[in-house]
Amino acid sequence: MREDAAADDRAPAERTLTNAERDLQLMIDSIPALAWSALPDGTVDFFNSHYLDYVGLSPVQMRDRQWKSVVHPDDLEVVDAAWKSLSAAQSDGEIEARLLRHDGQYRWFSFRTNPLLDNSGAVVRWYGINIDIEDRKCATRLLAGERRLLEMIAWGRPLRDVLEALCKVVEEAAPECYCDIHAIDLTKSLIEYSVAPSLPHSYTDPIAGTPLDGTKLPCGIAVSQKAQVIAEDMESDPRWYHSPVRIHVLRHGLRAVWSTPICSKDGVVLGTLCIVQRQSSRPSGHHQDVISRATNIASIAIERLRAEDELRRREHYLKAGERTSLTGSFTWDMNTDKIEFSDQLRHIYELNDDADITADNVRKRIHPDDECVLNEQIAQIRRGCTDIEFEVRLVMPDGRIKFTHAFASVFQHPDGGLECIGAVQDVTRRRTAEDALANARAELTHVTRVMSLGALTAAIAHEVNQPLSGIVTNASTCLRMLAANPPDIEGARETARRSLRDGNRASEVITRLRGLVQKKDRAVEHVDLNELSREVLALAAPELQRRGIVAQSSFDIDLKPILGDRVQLLQVVLNLILNAADALVPVKERPRRIQLRTSQDVAGRVRLTVSDTGQGVEPTDIEKIFDAFYTTKPDGMGIGLSVSRSILERHNGRLFVDTHEGPGASFSFSIPIADTNDVG
Ligand code: ADP
Repeated sequence: MREDAAADDRAPAERTLTNAERDLQLMIDSIPALAWSALPDGTVDFFNSHYLDYVGLSPVQMRDRQWKSVVHPDDLEVVDAAWKSLSAAQSDGEIEARLLRHDGQYRWFSFRTNPLLDNSGAVVRWYGINIDIEDRKCATRLLAGERRLLEMIAWGRPLRDVLEALCKVVEEAAPECYCDIHAIDLTKSLIEYSVAPSLPHSYTDPIAGTPLDGTKLPCGIAVSQKAQVIAEDMESDPRWYHSPVRIHVLRHGLRAVWSTPICSKDGVVLGTLCIVQRQSSRPSGHHQDVISRATNIASIAIERLRAEDELRRREHYLKAGERTSLTGSFTWDMNTDKIEFSDQLRHIYELNDDADITADNVRKRIHPDDECVLNEQIAQIRRGCTDIEFEVRLVMPDGRIKFTHAFASVFQHPDGGLECIGAVQDVTRRRTAEDALANARAELTHVTRVMSLGALTAAIAHEVNQPLSGIVTNASTCLRMLAANPPDIEGARETARRSLRDGNRASEVITRLRGLVQKKDRAVEHVDLNELSREVLALAAPELQRRGIVAQSSFDIDLKPILGDRVQLLQVVLNLILNAADALVPVKERPRRIQLRTSQDVAGRVRLTVSDTGQGVEPTDIEKIFDAFYTTKPDGMGIGLSVSRSILERHNGRLFVDTHEGPGASFSFSIPIADTNDVG
């Protein structure tokens, strides 16, 4: 009875225990984690239903250490080592390893293990919980990947390298996906190139240059609509039946294509990020998160690196332009006096790459005579002038002289700071060539004058010498005859007659010579004195510029043409201008100016006047200056004005010097206009 009673008492107790176990079992199975327990030797004898569901195996398949078959082979070593150290220490611990899911995908888990100890401290059982940390791991990986990519962008790594690394980060975060980034050239409406490191070249190469035909390509639609396009299954989705991309995708064993536009911060489409998969599939929340982060990074990379490329390209052009035009540039912060030179300007100044650009270093190169020019320009800028242009010479350390032409403008920054930005051109070659040309021209003029004078002198000498020596011989014969005793009067008379004849012959020679000069063949044509004057001014411009002379002109636009020898008239005007330029040499205290004026008078004559602000003509010299060989210049010939006067006389014209108001002289000539002009 007692036994029965005891048995009766036990029954509800056992029942209670069974219920408790069932509750516990239920509780363990409902934990959102993979729970397990093992014997002290590590033999796992319990897996909760979550565990079994996850791996898709039965308890029997999992027991006897079979559970290790679902651990990622690369992580087995870590798991074994951890178990060894835990069982040796009989303590709790935690490791991370990947477990194979029933669908063949590995996910990361945190394995947490706790021993249950008895009173003596020995392990009675091991309890463990494996928590899915795949998403956390993925987020950490993504973050690390993003950081790496941003570093690459900051270091200015090539865009393709960055996009390739970005694809790898995406594929790491979403292992079942292949990432393919298309850079887009919107101006040409085509895909520039495709970057997809995990896809074969046969897939990516044909994509480059594909036109973005809006309706047929997922990425074309993504670009035109600026929205994500999901092609879940390229094979069965009728939308893509006629898309050329369908065959291409299927031929590479792919099915799903998700295309997302990559937009700049201003909303311009820079490219597309395509995710392709071997299975038909739609993006999960995790996928969308990865895509959104990746497009963000891609947009930063494309925008920034394209801008940098553009900057580099422009810098390159600028440098090439500076090199070829021998022009360097500089900036001068007018508040801090900090000066920066471009490479080309350093080259012009012959300053080393590491030489400090300071006001002192710059000044050291300026020719001492031109320092005042620089100072004046700086003073002008300081006084508020915003644009300057000037020329200074530089002296190189070895004494070479360089001519430079500088332009600069002042800019005000939003913070009020003033900056002077300018360009300096090395014009040495041009200047040397101009000088050589001016010298050659001067030489030529001189040689021509000397030669014509020489030829004239030789001719005169030759022609006049004979009658002269005849006269001398006759005169001495005449003297001898008169000194005879008795004087030979008749002989003396005859020799005097011969002297007379020789004298007349000499005079004839001179007349003939003049006639020779005058009757030289001349090309007579209609000459527009305005046009001729412009031509002469252009010819003389470098010489005038070199001497700091400003030439002005005032032409009568209704001027009628004259008939004459163009070349000779050109010589006359050039001679008047060069004389005026010579007269301006000593002028320091007033502007050096030459003015050319043409006009027409009522008498039907055209007039050309060359006025200057030079030293002028002394009233006592006014008549003399037209005489041949009269000159007041140390190296003058004194034939310019006399030749000019005879040229003009042959044109029925006149050459005269005007009385002048103020300093300087005015030389004019006038010639009848063509219809009344009779050229002799
Ligand atoms: P050259 O120029 O060789 O002296 P020209 O016959 O051309 O010969 O000039 C003669 C002189 O006339 C000059 O030496 C100079 O004294 C004077 N002369 C000519 N043009 C001017 C001028 N524009 N101003 C002042 N003097 C002048």
